Amino acid sequence: MTESFWEQPLQRLSRAEWEALCDGCGKCCLHKLEDEESGEVFHTNVACRLLDRREGRCTHYKGRHAFVPDCIRLTPGKIAEMDWLPSTCAYRLRAEGKPLPDWHYLISGDRETIHQAGMSTRGWTVNETDVVDFEQHVIDHDL
Ligand code: SF4
Repeated sequence: MTESFWEQPLQRLSRAEWEALCDGCGKCCLHKLEDEESGEVFHTNVACRLLDRREGRCTHYKGRHAFVPDCIRLTPGKIAEMDWLPSTCAYRLRAEGKPLPDWHYLISGDRETIHQAGMSTRGWTVNETDVVDFEQHVIDHDL
């Protein structure tokens, strides 16, 4: 990987660099509800069944579409239209030309700093298999 590759435009990243840019927050693995009339999107604390809610990582990343066919496929060209991505998402930040935050492991050198900073899904999410009514799990803050 190129030194400080995360400062390069997204289109220039290799496949390995692209994958390494993910901060491991797990927030894009939380269910969202959409108001059919207004189109407004509501975030929940309900996590995909494949998410390791402690580590913020997908447990079947490479083969995830066999389990969850509509799981997102992030590409540089798609980020702009995915306006529901968390404001902290490393891909969104870089697509907007912003630097990675201090707690990102590529900056801190430690994958725990995102959790210590309270920026991940650790500690406040539930597995979808334990949820009956998703509307009861809408959260009142942005991700
Ligand atoms: S929101 Fe962005 S940085 Fe966080 S896990 Fe998803 S893709 Fe990775």
